[in-house]
Amino acid sequence: MPSYYSTRDPTKTKVSFKDALLFGLAPDGGLYIPGEIPALDPSWREAASLSELGTLVLTRWLGAELAHEEIAAIAEEALNFEVPLVTLADDLGVLELTGGPTLSFKDVGARTMARLMNAFLRGEDRKLTILVATSGDTGSAVADGFAGQENVNVVLLYPKGKVSAVQELQLIAPRKGVRTFAVAGDFDACQRLVKEAFVDPELRDFGLSSANSINLGRLLPQSTYYLWGAVQAQQQGWDEVVYCVPSGNLGNLMAGMIGTQMAGLKPQFIAAHNANDFFPGFLEARYQQGDVRNTIATLSNAMDVGAPSNFERLYALLGGDALREGDVWATSVSDEVTRARMKQVYEAYGYIACPHTAVGFEGAARYREATGDARPVVVLATAHPAKFGDAVEETLGVALAKVEALERLKDHPVEVEGLEPTLQALKSKLLT
Ligand SMILES: *Cc1c(COP(=O)(O)O)cnc(C)c1O
Repeated sequence: MPSYYSTRDPTKTKVSFKDALLFGLAPDGGLYIPGEIPALDPSWREAASLSELGTLVLTRWLGAELAHEEIAAIAEEALNFEVPLVTLADDLGVLELTGGPTLSFKDVGARTMARLMNAFLRGEDRKLTILVATSGDTGSAVADGFAGQENVNVVLLYPKGKVSAVQELQLIAPRKGVRTFAVAGDFDACQRLVKEAFVDPELRDFGLSSANSINLGRLLPQSTYYLWGAVQAQQQGWDEVVYCVPSGNLGNLMAGMIGTQMAGLKPQFIAAHNANDFFPGFLEARYQQGDVRNTIATLSNAMDVGAPSNFERLYALLGGDALREGDVWATSVSDEVTRARMKQVYEAYGYIACPHTAVGFEGAARYREATGDARPVVVLATAHPAKFGDAVEETLGVALAKVEALERLKDHPVEVEGLEPTLQALKSKLLT
């Protein structure tokens, strides 16, 4: 079984999956990485569902720490939605990761991580409170994923007036064990509160933890849909595909590289970024490791990341030279081109892509143009267009069909507790 260590630990002191999961970030500020990537039995190709693949993959990572039946039950419950590969042309497909309860691929990681945490805490008869600052898709996926898990509560902080109407409805929907606060400040103020809370002595015994995208418990489950994509691709005669991943923090790409390596595949990857171009710039040797880029606000806001957190993990696992010479091709797409590509995809295939997915389609087209690679490209659809309805309707000039998961949210009373952006205000809410 693999063990895990921090990217910043030269002695490579081993920790268990459970510790990596419950700590999230290593105490030295590094990210946990596996000492080795375990191999899947070739029979993975016969899996009949995403959750079956989830069981196979997770068993290889933590089969020594949780009983097989428990892992299977977690995968079945967490990965309970469709992830179809939709074919648009002979050489172009979309893997739709948007069928979860909050309509983004973040549901895959968040739902699985929540159940894994709950299982480990139940074994210890211990409770934790996940404290999250959110500006978009992560918060609702985490809140929904953890809701009703009896050993974990969630406290969500979002910047009042700075998230879209749909995002706000998703964040404030009443959920068991989840409290949401609208902070009178911006996203940075929310993040600052979270950081202060984690080091506050009075809150030490409160059992705070985080659920951000650097957690292995979110990352590893995401590798399953790359394999589910490969199973579906093969069924239609696509033996080898190129995966195009709309990217921000690079967690999704990292998960794809790990998952396909477990399965003995060696696909080509495209990392499609918006104007936040650190990673394409690094591959082109315009930027170096450790360069600090400011975050630029774009249409595909879930990918607005100046300094991708998973880069440290990619770099530690592969090394800079291997990354630059390896199987990742990357590009950076402006908002204007994103809108044009969204239109082109709609006109050519009748397919409606969210802004993030549209960045992916542009990346796919550029890759083909630049390399002449004729293999089919599978673009990962990372969010449902209805989550970004205004931008999509404005760009395409069409009215989107109503989506039930979002319509249902409108039935709830729109009430949310406000919070002043001070640690004292947060503590008085948490400790009473
Ligand atoms: C989070 C997110 C991304 C970026 O994923 P990373 O794993 O951070 O690279 C892309 N698209 C959508 C819709 C997201 O919510």
